Amino acid sequence: MQYISTRDMTARYTASQAIAQGLAPDGGLLTPCYIPRLPGKALEDLKEMSYQQRAVYVMKQFLEEFSVKELTDFAGAAYGPEKFDTPAVAPVRTLDQNIYCLELWHGPTCAFKDMALQMLPHLLTASLTKTEETKTAFILVATSGDTGKGALEGFKDVPGTKILVFYPKDGVSQVQQLQMVTQEGENVGVAAVQGNFDDAQTGVKRLFSDKQLCQILGEKGYFFSSANSINWGRVLPQLVYYVSAYCDLVRDGKIAQGQGIHVCVPTGNFGNILAAYYAREMGVPIEKLICASNSNNVLTDFIRTGVYDRNRTFYNTISPSMDILISSNLERLLLALTQDTKEVEGYMRQLNTSGRYQVRDAVLDKLQKLFWGYCCDDEKTKQVIGKMYKQFEYLIDPHTAVAMSALEQYREQTGDSTPCVVVSTASPFKFCDSVLAALGEQEVASGLDALDQLSQRTGLSAPAPLASLRNKSIRFTQQVEKGRMEEAVLSMLG
Ligand SMILES: *Cc1c(COP(=O)(O)O)cnc(C)c1O
Repeated sequence: MQYISTRDMTARYTASQAIAQGLAPDGGLLTPCYIPRLPGKALEDLKEMSYQQRAVYVMKQFLEEFSVKELTDFAGAAYGPEKFDTPAVAPVRTLDQNIYCLELWHGPTCAFKDMALQMLPHLLTASLTKTEETKTAFILVATSGDTGKGALEGFKDVPGTKILVFYPKDGVSQVQQLQMVTQEGENVGVAAVQGNFDDAQTGVKRLFSDKQLCQILGEKGYFFSSANSINWGRVLPQLVYYVSAYCDLVRDGKIAQGQGIHVCVPTGNFGNILAAYYAREMGVPIEKLICASNSNNVLTDFIRTGVYDRNRTFYNTISPSMDILISSNLERLLLALTQDTKEVEGYMRQLNTSGRYQVRDAVLDKLQKLFWGYCCDDEKTKQVIGKMYKQFEYLIDPHTAVAMSALEQYREQTGDSTPCVVVSTASPFKFCDSVLAALGEQEVASGLDALDQLSQRTGLSAPAPLASLRNKSIRFTQQVEKGRMEEAVLSMLG
């Protein structure tokens, strides 16, 4: 399996080069040059397997240089009982005979980022060995909440790596901040930036290109690396849970082998739904992909009109992990639909210069054959949380609620009631305040007390990693000015 840049197909990369580099030199995303089809009986065979075994099987199709033994070790470590609170890893919950919820938040940080960020460190360190990199990877992350904690948990105490996360001082929830500043591990660092998420992200980009800093780093035996969602090592582990969900539905007699399903995915950077598209390309009988957005509905408009336009108001919503106007992974879908790196390069150049591009009609046709886009605002999101709880006694977080609303809109518009897998991306306990408000609570307790309040209100217990935050001591108090983020890097080098 060879990998190419979405913007240039002349250079070829191995899987380990793609994962070690993260991004192509031309700014494109490193992507497999074709998507392998699962052999005929594969889905039937996978049905009887554990999640870990399914992960090995699916990832092996894309990672020829990795042995089954290696991948088996990785899957055991990434998805084992010390990390995930259910042996199913990504269980499918039946709501009724045509709505199934794929729960991706049973990992150590209670959000779906764990599905990839528990695997990425293994793939990355093995890739560095295979590409004969001898320096230690110094991983920089700017986060608006979920990614930072997910990356810290994934990379904690991983040999050959150090990780430093920057979060905006006043831009993350109390639970999210506590999750980060209490992080354990010898190779981790966390710093608050005096600024907003954009300042943190811009600052990280500047550190990557700071020649003097890179030289100091090199002299001390390090190089900068990224755990960003455009790394192929983060997309690949996400294909697994779509394959797995289909196998579960067949195994449990919910659908017949070969029967078509839809998937509905709450989307921000387009990584999660892209994985569903690739799973479909591999041969999982997925018919439609329903792309759910919050008020930052740039993707809804794109799917409906073929115009991608980021020149619009940015909203801070109660589903903050989807507050994004540049969906980076869409670039990979554009390559799949156009099969033309020059064309993709052109669209991305326009996006860079004017913030807007329009795809050709033929591309839009292909897109609309598969994808449907819907969005909803915070008001609707809360209504859906309340309604799902009433109807099914099933508590969902705001991101999942956006997806449920999209499915509802799709069914109203089309009358199509094909079984649908709705992707549930976070534990409702991560967003206690919004969820409590959605359930009609007038007063919401502050900080970790809101966890207890939600437990009392619903009879559910908070996930252990969140409940245990209370007993953790604060390790990281460093604050940096947005123009002086290198201080945090230097202080970690010692
Ligand atoms: C990151 C995230 C999303 C969006 O996923 P993308 O891959 O960026 O589309 C949705 N929900 C939650 C809870 C997330 O953390």
